[in-house]
Amino acid sequence: MTRTVIVGGGIGGLAAALAITRAGNRDGPRAEHSAGHGARHSDGHQVIVLEQASEFAEIGAGIQLAPNGLHALDRLGLGDTVRARAVHIDELRFMDGVTGDHVASMPLTGVYRSRFGNPYVVVHRAELHRLLLDACRRSPAIELRADSRATGYRQDDSGATVLLADGGQVAGDAVIGADGIRSAIRRQLVGDGAPRVAGITVYRTVIPMERVPEELRWNAVTWWAGPGRHFVHYAIAGGRYLNLAPSVENGVTEAFTGVAVDRDRVRRAFADLDGTARRLLALGEDWRSWSLVDRDPVDRWTDGRVALLGDAAHPMLHYAAQGACQALEDAVVLGDLLDEDTDAVPERFEEYHAVRHERTARITHAARASTRLWHPAGAEAKARNEMLSALSGTALHDHVAWMHGAREFGTAGVRR
Ligand SMILES: Cc1cc2nc3c(=O)[nH]c(=O)nc-3n(C[C@H](O)[C@H](O)[C@H](O)COP(=O)(O)OP(=O)(O)OC[C@H]3O[C@@H](n4cnc5c(N)ncnc54)[C@H](O)[C@@H]3O)c2cc1C
Repeated sequence: MTRTVIVGGGIGGLAAALAITRAGNRDGPRAEHSAGHGARHSDGHQVIVLEQASEFAEIGAGIQLAPNGLHALDRLGLGDTVRARAVHIDELRFMDGVTGDHVASMPLTGVYRSRFGNPYVVVHRAELHRLLLDACRRSPAIELRADSRATGYRQDDSGATVLLADGGQVAGDAVIGADGIRSAIRRQLVGDGAPRVAGITVYRTVIPMERVPEELRWNAVTWWAGPGRHFVHYAIAGGRYLNLAPSVENGVTEAFTGVAVDRDRVRRAFADLDGTARRLLALGEDWRSWSLVDRDPVDRWTDGRVALLGDAAHPMLHYAAQGACQALEDAVVLGDLLDEDTDAVPERFEEYHAVRHERTARITHAARASTRLWHPAGAEAKARNEMLSALSGTALHDHVAWMHGAREFGTAGVRR
């Protein structure tokens, strides 16, 4: 029996609990993927998830899941449920936010779905979290403890213990820090200080779809690219709401989350965008703002019996829409690797890092680089438009294949 203590009950922590206890689809693709080492798995896993909040919950609006995220959910046995509740997106649409020109579209239907084996969807973040939570609650092997804030860990050759702010301790054979971008477990394990402030503010709001004029409703994740800023929108909650998320490079140096902001301030920041984009932005009433943060990739996410997962391991700008997808991928890989051999935990964690670090670092860099595509002005923007509009659907698919099409979730796959 392996006892794993997971710090953090977000999307990553809950997915890891499911993957490790194999509460998901044992007879599905996991069996295929685990061929050759499936014999090491049995029912001998117990997981405790420690969450600092008084209840397990998630706030926020829509979350995009590319096929790789859905493949991970398939492995957890939740793919069908998520697909049934999600908005299936038809295309990623790129607009010049200044001229209003439609520059390019990446189709996400027919060929994309058959090539990558899953659709590209948007789900409500709270709904995804609740589905994971319900699945954890159904598993007798998972214990969920709220009001449990971790401050660090200690370990010896035979086990690892999470230290709690209230003086309590929770011991196990393995500890996973899934406690987000300001992870207490990472602070001790990596010690790389506060996250990097990217100098960008993102504003977010959600509006009921009936308030959106008919001619502005299309089933796409749409980018309006402008100088030093861009604006993204897409439907969420089965199409009942439109999620609006404009971003501006304003050199902000402080980290802040969810700060209420006046609607006029948002409108002024995007006053030079095209009329259609401005019409959509003008529908927003209750805006909140976040300053974007991430971290440089590091070479170490494990320390003996302790490992990091999700944003604690590789927090990235949300511009690649992959942070949650990568947390789900981490969870599946860990679930494949951890077995009942408690002595082997440090080795399994090293292997997990070896499988995952290169892919997640590449996505972290890709997310940062996306502003180079979205934020140019003048002649540079014109050259970008010419380059993008010349690409075929297949060429666009080739461009994202490494990210969206992954089913093994590692640079070299799980090497066993
Ligand atoms: C604006 C925005 C848009 C995004 N859009 C997308 C998208 O479209 N697609 C996508 O894939 N990703 C997206 N992401 C990224 C995604 O939200 C994150 O990568 C994902 O939520 C990370 O999950 P996590 O479980 O690792 O961390 P978190 O969600 O941060 O969860 C950490 C959990 O740990 C708990 N915790 C923290 N500290 C402690 C402690 N000391 N002790 C105990 N518990 C603790 C927290 O309360 C929380 O419940 C977006 C992010 C942002 C900011």
